Amino acid sequence: MREILRILDETYPDAKCALDHQSPWELLVATILSAQCTDKRVNMVTPGLFRKYPTVKDFAAVSQEELAEDIRSTGFFNNKAKSVTGAAKTILKEFHGKVPRTMEELLRVPGAARKTANVVLGTAYGVASGVVVDTHVQRIAQRLGLTKNTDPKKIEQDLMKALPKEKWIPFPHQIILHGRSLCVARKPKCAECPLDAICNAKDKTKH
Ligand code: SF4
Repeated sequence: MREILRILDETYPDAKCALDHQSPWELLVATILSAQCTDKRVNMVTPGLFRKYPTVKDFAAVSQEELAEDIRSTGFFNNKAKSVTGAAKTILKEFHGKVPRTMEELLRVPGAARKTANVVLGTAYGVASGVVVDTHVQRIAQRLGLTKNTDPKKIEQDLMKALPKEKWIPFPHQIILHGRSLCVARKPKCAECPLDAICNAKDKTKH
């Protein structure tokens, strides 16, 4: 583990969240929109969206149908519009308009499942309450032998045990970059990978 972390720090020293945002609320919205969609696409949609609806109140007031049209290009727009308007209403009513800072409270917000809550707590508030497990983290944690599980919740538990707490927030950012650049889903670029010597993944590519 120590060697993996050393190499990741060396290779991806500036890894951070790729979703553009100016506040915890904007990050929550962007994270909801990023489901089944690229961060790049989300970053194209959010500037106009936050100009049109500058506050949580504005999102709570807009109809689900209108918001769905605004976010259409991110896909699954009806479900996402329902989550975002629901989140805005809950945050306004139950949390005085502020995105809550604890996992327990965030999980009461519509659209904020554990992964989303971890993104918001870690990146917006610097609170390490878990490890973000997305598709890249899931795949690469398995390849690096950090988990044998396939269920994201169990993978998160394994990573929380394996990682020192100060790495809970940066580790997924680094792994996501690694998953996009080298350790891609099909035919990982093992010949170029700095983790090659310590990786025993079954689907390593020969070189
Ligand atoms: S050696 Fe290959 S499979 Fe292992 S981490 Fe690197 S790219 Fe991924």
